[in-house]
Amino acid sequence: MENKIFIKTFGCQMNEYDSNRIYHSVKKIGFEKTEDLESANCYILNTCHIRDKAKEKVYHEIGRVKKVYRNKAKPIVVVAGCVAQAENQEMLKREPYIDIIIGPQSYHKINDLIKNLASKKQKEETEFDTISKFEYFDKIENKDNKVSAFLTIQEGCDKFCHFCVVPFTRGPEYSRSFHKIIIEAENLVKNGAKEITLLGQNVNAYSYKENSKEYRLSDLINHLEKYSELERIRYTTSHPRDMTEDLMDCYNSSKKLMPFVHLPIQSGSNKILKLMNRKHTVETYIEIYERLKKINPEIEFSSDFIISYPSETEADFNDTLDLVKKIKFINSFSFIFSPRPGTKAANLQLIDKEISKERLLEIQKQLFKHQLQMNNSLINKSIDVLVENKIDGQGKLFGRNKYMNSVIFEGDKKNIGKILKIKIDKVNQNSLFGKLEKKNKMRAA
Ligand code: SF4
Repeated sequence: MENKIFIKTFGCQMNEYDSNRIYHSVKKIGFEKTEDLESANCYILNTCHIRDKAKEKVYHEIGRVKKVYRNKAKPIVVVAGCVAQAENQEMLKREPYIDIIIGPQSYHKINDLIKNLASKKQKEETEFDTISKFEYFDKIENKDNKVSAFLTIQEGCDKFCHFCVVPFTRGPEYSRSFHKIIIEAENLVKNGAKEITLLGQNVNAYSYKENSKEYRLSDLINHLEKYSELERIRYTTSHPRDMTEDLMDCYNSSKKLMPFVHLPIQSGSNKILKLMNRKHTVETYIEIYERLKKINPEIEFSSDFIISYPSETEADFNDTLDLVKKIKFINSFSFIFSPRPGTKAANLQLIDKEISKERLLEIQKQLFKHQLQMNNSLINKSIDVLVENKIDGQGKLFGRNKYMNSVIFEGDKKNIGKILKIKIDKVNQNSLFGKLEKKNKMRAA
């Protein structure tokens, strides 16, 4: 029987990148990728610990897989990612249907774990290796010819915000070799990538030292800038503390770095930021905002907010609301605080649920208002859109503008990979709809 693998990915782009790595790796032991769960004989769930009830979602998902395979041979079931790292042996005990647990820093060992399964040698791999997994991986080549590609440059975190599991699930900050990243970037571009998003849990903490030279995120951006086929550069997720001068200067020097900064603040209250152990203040954040706006007024911001962090008063919440009104973030994530086992904030007194819900609604109302205002401001404007793919069964194309908005319009798939002028005629909170400008047709043909 042909070996087929199905991977379901929860969470961030780094997990998507990792799933891609896993596909590459298991190919070597004869597994082909499938999008059809029922035809797979190996099922991998790549999990995320950031969202609420992450662990329960995993068991729910495994229950769903069990049902699909009720009358068939059981597939190899692997739970990967941050929940696997945090829960390890507990998961194997609670759900015997799971065969393998593997943490994000051990993906280079996945082939051995699968091969050894028959002999039941080992079922769990969540140790942090002294040698990074990246040393073992082959380079990603963008075989699927994706127009927009991810490239992990950094992993882990040393900052230990009191609410966050990342330092425990992804380990300490690690930056990949500058030259290996460049080789991977060249491969991505050679195989059709027009946009590269550099990824890291603390992407702007990137620091790789070689022969007494330190390479920073700005060096990577400046290097990628030189590839003529590459149109756009992005990075995520950044930390206000690592928003250094050299990086801010890139918004001046680079034509390809998109003017859209995802810079998580979490709270607009200095008291709460201190309790969270964020080590930046609202003032520093505003300073970064003003500096960047001065460099390029077109730069827009998005952020992450944790609402009702333990001890958040009405006044603290209002500080967050004031900041949102000032900066007018155009696309942000906001959640009610939920404790993560093992973190310092895990056992703190929670804010009343009803109050928390009201605060979340209020902040989201404000955030969505700015998002919609921004989208409305684009109506009747002609904007540059990088065309990523054709939407299945609709004859329409999907692309993104410089601020990552989804843009949908009618067009031929020969336009995939091109930057086209699209005149926007309709918007909603999340998407823009428009028509191909006539002058483009000449340009694109
Ligand atoms: S900086 Fe980000 S990844 Fe690191 S602990 Fe804080 S929230 Fe988590």
